[in-house]
This record gives sequence, structure tokens and C-alpha cells, in this order.
Amino acid sequence: MTNTTRQTCNDEKFMSNITHLECSVCGKHRPAGQIHNLCECGGPLLVRYDLDRARATFPRESLRNAPSTMWRYAPMLPVQEPSAITSLGEGWTPLVKTSRLGARLGADRLWVKDEGVNPTGSFKARGLSCAISMCRQLGVKKVAVPSAGNAAGATAAYAAAAGLEAHIFMPQDVPQSNFIECKATGAHVTLVDGLISDCGRIVAQRKEAEGWFEVSTLKEPYRIEGKKTMGYELAEQMDFTLPGAIFYPAGGGVGMIGMWKAFAEMEALGWIGPARPKMIAVQAEGCPPIVRAFERGQAKSDFYEGAETVASGLRVPKALGDFLVLNAVRESGGTAVAVNDNEILDSSLAIARDEGMFIAPEGGACVAALSKLLASGFLKQNERIVIYNTGSGLKYLEAFATRFPRATASEQDKLGGLITPR
Ligand SMILES: *Cc1c(COP(=O)(O)O)cnc(C)c1O
Ligand SMILES: [Zn+2]
Repeated sequence: MTNTTRQTCNDEKFMSNITHLECSVCGKHRPAGQIHNLCECGGPLLVRYDLDRARATFPRESLRNAPSTMWRYAPMLPVQEPSAITSLGEGWTPLVKTSRLGARLGADRLWVKDEGVNPTGSFKARGLSCAISMCRQLGVKKVAVPSAGNAAGATAAYAAAAGLEAHIFMPQDVPQSNFIECKATGAHVTLVDGLISDCGRIVAQRKEAEGWFEVSTLKEPYRIEGKKTMGYELAEQMDFTLPGAIFYPAGGGVGMIGMWKAFAEMEALGWIGPARPKMIAVQAEGCPPIVRAFERGQAKSDFYEGAETVASGLRVPKALGDFLVLNAVRESGGTAVAVNDNEILDSSLAIARDEGMFIAPEGGACVAALSKLLASGFLKQNERIVIYNTGSGLKYLEAFATRFPRATASEQDKLGGLITPR
């Protein structure tokens, strides 16, 4: 796979069509090929491409020989130096048609895009593969990131693969898997008695003195480019006819912003038409800032105090790109839904039993939201619906262990369930 990636990306017609970066707030342009964080107005920068050139040189048909990773879309990704590409095989994840779950919930045509099979067990691999590749191209040696968990693991892994130094800041109660994967891959880990927002403040304060490049999502302009490939893949896997509705578990909402951008790019490339899925942002009741803003008709969300949920990727009290998420939801005729932790775990386990997919609580939140929108009549039984499962259930063993308490050896023995081999 690695070989195919290199070969294909060395091929002239697979070179990036990047032209510049554009501020999503004030519209100011910045040159490609330089280190950037936010615009001076505070707005996130978005990567722009020469769409005419791409339309002429990157037809859908050329995907037939493309690598089985997200780098199959290299002409619409920002990396200009093929040798900088740092890939662990991320992307090109399965789009699984459900056999029992949809029938039970009353959705005849239901798919799960399973991001849990990515390297590091979550879709964060896409964003960090792209961002770390850009760090390598631009000569960055040390990166720092505040994370609710999975971004930390992906940063640590891709930094290790690229030979960069990683400095990770995460809440002290992140899942054990996230802490251990970072330590295992050699990152410098600091646990913070607070939330991702507190971690972000610490990184911002220290980065200059330490010489760190901050790869916080949207403060760094390339993670979103990796995440947008979820949209490209969905289109390709559905024969370039997008579904009627997409359920996305929104923390920062960057995956949704990325897919929305991908759809616009693909229309400009002539790959898809103007029809768009209803974009449905799913959050936890313990941290629903985007749902609140949607319901109140606000353009931006307010900081949510006391955020708390088992779906650790959704524990983001205030998202930098909230206005872009709310735009996508509203423009698409979608909605925003909050579900509670009990429903999240129930739904995660329901899909595990029905389909054999042990998904992350964030994916489970989407299943719970789907039941609600089918019950309310917002979605129809025959609509084509796609749920994004953003991670593997195996990264959340503490959360699922609350449902499957294990008896001690002596308790097992009394119940007659403990077998002692002789
Ligand atoms: C980070 C994360 C999310 C939220 O991602 P955004 O695109 O920032 O909203 C959802 N699920 C999982 C498993 C995550 O790790
Ligand atoms: Zn700006």
C-alpha cells in the first residue's frame, strides 16, 4: 500500500492543485507553502485549489488506479512534496449497509461509514496524516496539540512515523487507551485537570517559548483537509449520488465542515450535482453548544459550562468553527440533535449486536439521534441515510465496562462460572 501511495503521488497528474489559503471570516488570501495558524482577524484559514485545472486533470475515472487510502484524492489535498506524505493506511474505510439495525429502527436504506478501522482507531488519523505531512513539507520539527483524546493518539502516532517531537495536552480523565497510545508512541504527555479548552489555553501560552507548532484543529489549516476526504469517499462509494441525510457526531464539527467543503469542491470538479444531504449534527446532552445555538437561531455557539459525556470526542464546550457547522446544517435543511449518555451506550450496543460492529459512543450517539428523527417524522423510512461512526469501541473500554461489570474471581467461583484448568 505504501508503495502504491508513493508511486501514485510521484505521478505528475497526482500533484496537488493547491493555490492559496483563504480566511473563512474576512476572505483575506495567504500564500500556500508557508506555515500558518489563524488569520489575524481570528478566522480559520481554508485551503483553496485550482478547480479548473483539477477538473481538467483529475477526472473521476482516474480513481480506478488510485491508492486505497485517503491519498487517492492527493490532487485535492495540500501536500506538494510527495516525499513528505506520512501515511499509515488511513481512509478508504468501509461503507457498511446495515442488515438488521435499519429494519429495527424503520430505515430501509441505512449505511454506516466505519471510521473505527482507521489507524489509531478513529477518523482523527485522516486529519493528522495530512497535518503532519504538511509539517514535514514545511520543516516543522515539534508539534503540540490540545485534545479530548483521539486527536492526541493520532498526533502522537503520525509524529512518530514522521520523526517529529509531539507535545500532547489532554484532560486527566481521558480514556486509558488515549493516554497509553500517546506514551507508547513516544509523545510528551501532560494531563490537565480540566477540559480540552483548558488544554488549548496552556498550549497557546507555551508554544512560542517552546518552539512548538500548534496543530489544534482549524487553528491549523490542514487537518480539515484530511477530514474532508470522508466526503469524497462517501460520494465515490455511493457512485457519486450523495445520500439524503448524514448523521455526524459533532465535537468541533470539523469533519462536517470538511465534508461540506468536499461536496462544493466535487461539484466544481463535475463529480456530483447540486443536491446535498441533510447534514445532521449530533451532540451529547451533557455538552450540546451547537444544538443550543441551532435551536436559538444563533450564528455562533456560547461556551458550554460543565461539559460531561462518555462520548469524549463530543466534550468540546466551544468550537472555533461553530459558525461553519451551523451554516452547513442550515443550508442543507438538516438539524441538530442532542442525546443522553444512556441512549448513547444503549445505541452503541444495539448496533454491536445487530451488525457485529463495536463502535465508539460518538457513533452510538448518531444511532440514537436517528431513532429520534425517524420517530418524529423528520426522516422518512425510504430515505438513503448514512451514519458516521468516527471511532472504534475498543478505545472506550472504561465506558462500556459500566454495562458489563466483571465479577471477581471468588464471586465467579460461587456462581460456578470460574473454570480452573488442571
Ligand atoms: C474528535 C472526535 C469527534 C468529533 O470530531 P469533530 O469533527 O471535531 O466534530 C467525534 N468522534 C470521535 C471518535 C472523535 O475522536
Ligand atoms: Zn481573516
